[in-house]
Amino acid sequence: MNSKLGNHAAISLAALGVLALAACSDGGDDSFAAKACEVTTDAGTVVVGSGNPGDPSLPEPSSGYKVGMKAVTSRSYMVVSANPLATRAGCNVLKDGGSAVDAAVAVQAVLGLVEPQSSGVGGGTFMMHYDAGTKQVQAYDGRETAPAAATEDYLRYVTDAASGSPLPNARSSGRSIGTPGTVRMLELAHNDHGRKQWSSLYAPAIDLANNGFKISGRLADAIGGAASNLQRDPEASAYFLNADGTPKALGTTLKNPDYANTLGLIAQGGANAFYTGPVAQSIIDKINVTTSANGAGPITPGLTTLTDLANYQPKRREPVCSGYRSWTVCGMPPPSSGGIAVAQILGILENFQLAPLAPIPIDGEGGKPTVQGVHLISEAERLAYADRNAYVADTDFVPLPGNGIPSLLDKGYLKQRASMISLTQSIGTAQPGTFPNAQPVGLSIGLERGTSHVSIVDRYGNVVSMTTTVESSLGSYHFTRGFILNNELTDFSSAPSDATGPIANRVAANKRPRSSMAPTLVFKNNTAGARGDFLMATGSPGGSTIIQFVAKTVVGALDWGLDAQQATSLVNFGSANGPTTNVGGEHPDVDASNNGINDPLVVGLRALGHTVNTASQSSGVGTIIRTSTEGAASLTGGADPRREGIVLGDVIR
Ligand code: GLU
Repeated sequence: MNSKLGNHAAISLAALGVLALAACSDGGDDSFAAKACEVTTDAGTVVVGSGNPGDPSLPEPSSGYKVGMKAVTSRSYMVVSANPLATRAGCNVLKDGGSAVDAAVAVQAVLGLVEPQSSGVGGGTFMMHYDAGTKQVQAYDGRETAPAAATEDYLRYVTDAASGSPLPNARSSGRSIGTPGTVRMLELAHNDHGRKQWSSLYAPAIDLANNGFKISGRLADAIGGAASNLQRDPEASAYFLNADGTPKALGTTLKNPDYANTLGLIAQGGANAFYTGPVAQSIIDKINVTTSANGAGPITPGLTTLTDLANYQPKRREPVCSGYRSWTVCGMPPPSSGGIAVAQILGILENFQLAPLAPIPIDGEGGKPTVQGVHLISEAERLAYADRNAYVADTDFVPLPGNGIPSLLDKGYLKQRASMISLTQSIGTAQPGTFPNAQPVGLSIGLERGTSHVSIVDRYGNVVSMTTTVESSLGSYHFTRGFILNNELTDFSSAPSDATGPIANRVAANKRPRSSMAPTLVFKNNTAGARGDFLMATGSPGGSTIIQFVAKTVVGALDWGLDAQQATSLVNFGSANGPTTNVGGEHPDVDASNNGINDPLVVGLRALGHTVNTASQSSGVGTIIRTSTEGAASLTGGADPRREGIVLGDVIR
């Protein structure tokens, strides 16, 4: 039970309607409070959600890339999220003296409403947290789990005995739905680091769900692309589609009283109200569905039970922290592969001088990356992904090779890996390093676009970097009580073995599927070389390319001196191993026409043997960097121009 909930469990929903406006006491600077949590436009400041000109929550068609975004600078607190209304909810919590974790709870509740294609209470979340008081860095694991009844064939056969057709449609059946972890994890983090009452943090989302919000460009696209799948679920149809089955359009006002009700139960009863009782029963009923409402054929039910939900445990895990030049970078340990992969990439790159390879010229969008800079980073990524693909899975089930993380991040090992990089020729496909007792692991399946990243700093100096997901856009398309259920189990390998033996990332009862999510925190080292002050929080959605998005943002800020917006905006590039190197063609500094034949970066990489793919890279990076303005500490933030997010805080400019 949430300790901060205890006294307040009886608060009525009506009493939750408005956030109490406490005075900014410790830490904050009230001279900035007047325009805090508003956006600054040429015509003055605008309240987000007011509908006034300049309000970033006014729906507009989604664009591949919004040119001209500038870093936002604030005095003491800041939120970046992928939706203006969610950012506003978090910022108001911080303005009111709440902690970074308090704000994360409020942001997540709103994201589940306004960006349901990407995250929500029916999904899973990883959170990195820095406690400015104790200086401790903590990783929180709210990853979904496979049900206790799952066997290694859970995703590919209806039963172990019947391996023939009908085969389950893993993506959009009950089989892909993992036991959600987000709510339990947030409750755990809030117990550890919350300052505000848990119940109060749900008020903004409940209010918006009851009163309605307008469908944004990206949500409209997500609904439009999924209409036939949503038609299979009567509750999803009723919410996302018009009566004639067509998708609800951009700008339509959506009200979600069922979600308001679910959040109200969680607000009053804590996570138990989600994992037991009527909400849990609705989740199980939905996972058990066997027929499509639109007659599209049978749906394979999942085997999740009420006991699976009641037994779900979030975990506090030891973060993956490693030195990179004069900084320490901390990330998410398994079951995510993100922290280890980012640390390996940086550890390999430490063996090269990257600063002279900065983009030329640097501009407001980050600038034009150099051929040699992209080459080196992509090669380091090939080597890191080779290890990731071979070795990393849920370490509660499958140990890492060698001595685990220390072996994979050993400086000598990474130096030896770096020596495999040629300055004149791409390695193509890198092989994993050799370790004693290593087990092979297959690749996960499926396209991933259902994720969101949130970065938060509060006035006390605490930091949250949180990546939250339902896996694919709109998850499994199963919808109950106003929220989407994830399809996270497709991050497992559906095949339990290959020619070389058992696959580490195979399905098993209660196991967590391997992730690529990489919420990241960067610290300056002190003179003794140990982790010192907080410097940077970042992360992104993007499936397995998350690792590349985070690596370029970190290198952009640390090695190339880009500000939070430039590093976030910077061209996305990199490789997940194999001959292909991505160069994000959506970026204004990349000429992707005619397959990039007129772009010197693309041409230069091809000359080094890279197979260059200039397809759009749909990152959703959110970055906060601690800096100083006019001699005083300040924060700068950048939201990804490829998505809809904004930065808010006690803004200086
Ligand atoms: N489910 C993916 C993971 O955990 C993330 C999907 C996405 O970024 O859209 O790595």
